[in-house]
Amino acid sequence: MSVHCLIIGSGPAGYTAAIYASRANMKPVMYQGIQPGGQLTITTDVENYPGYPDGIMGPQMMMDFEKQAARMGADIRYGMATKVDFSSRPFKVEIDEEKWIEADSVIIATGASAKWLGLESETRLNGHGVSACAVCDGFFFKGKEVAIVGAGDTACEEAMYLSKMCSTVHMLIRKGEMRASKVMQDRVLNTPNIKVYWNSETLEVLGDSKVEAMKVLNNKTNEETVIPVSAFFVAIGHQPNSGIFSDVIEMDETGYILTVPGTTKTNIEGVFACGDVQDKNYRQAVTAAGSGCMAALDAERYLTAAGLV
Ligand SMILES: Cc1cc2nc3c(=O)[nH]c(=O)nc-3n(C[C@H](O)[C@H](O)[C@H](O)COP(=O)(O)OP(=O)(O)OC[C@H]3O[C@@H](n4cnc5c(N)ncnc54)[C@H](O)[C@@H]3O)c2cc1C
Repeated sequence: MSVHCLIIGSGPAGYTAAIYASRANMKPVMYQGIQPGGQLTITTDVENYPGYPDGIMGPQMMMDFEKQAARMGADIRYGMATKVDFSSRPFKVEIDEEKWIEADSVIIATGASAKWLGLESETRLNGHGVSACAVCDGFFFKGKEVAIVGAGDTACEEAMYLSKMCSTVHMLIRKGEMRASKVMQDRVLNTPNIKVYWNSETLEVLGDSKVEAMKVLNNKTNEETVIPVSAFFVAIGHQPNSGIFSDVIEMDETGYILTVPGTTKTNIEGVFACGDVQDKNYRQAVTAAGSGCMAALDAERYLTAAGLV
């Protein structure tokens, strides 16, 4: 028998969809994927999610989300969606390469993953001054000197954001030019407290238990310098987790799922997408949760109109 609503992914978007779908009696089944709880399980303090006046640790917040979804009746399962067949109804989704689940509607909430430089020290100090999200973590470094790596529009936007609260933003650009649009470059270059380092690569983030400095190589002169900073932001892009949908669901050139503006509808009726996998712009827990709510409501209306619930 097919499930009414299959939710793929267990970040803020997936759990919120599960809460709404359960309360609408859609008996949702969720597959959590390889990272139950999603991206927030790899961070420490979350201070910008409404409802937690004293802030909350990311992993605890996601346990709260899960508990609430389970209490509403969501059937939460460990497992990975490995293939989809949306060519006929009910839709079919393969789990862990071994079994197929049939579903009347599908909510894709598979999120996105930040790209990292791949340094051992970057991994070790992740959440202790190393971050891939200036909007999330910049506030913790108010008045401090920080670094940002990246040369695209997002890196420029994040550098501008940080410049409003940090004393100095050291911006490392690997080449002698930026990829960002001219207007963004001009903004960065005309901001007095952003210091741009051209042809510069990070060799190491320094610090035992928190970020204290970074070791930088000028790849033109081979000169190495140590720059004291309290935080190290990586802004070299995100990878939406949309690979298994690539042949069937419409996406932009970077793999973000396209939805009908103002809704979570994809190009396939009955398949919805929410959270970071369809949002390259805001990428926040609260916006992911908001779109998870939208996806459940869109799915409920679809199922009702189709006479499936
Ligand atoms: C270090 C860090 C700190 C952050 N701090 C903040 C903060 O302070 N405040 C804030 O608002 N935002 C913060 N963010 C951003 C926030 O985490 C994301 O915007 C949010 O988690 C996106 O939610 P999501 O539900 O779309 O996806 P994600 O949280 O990315 O979750 C995706 C889920 O999909 C699952 N999945 C993926 N592929 C499959 C598959 N094939 N089958 C089944 N499941 C699958 C994964 O296991 C995971 O459970 C931070 C992000 C990072 C990386």
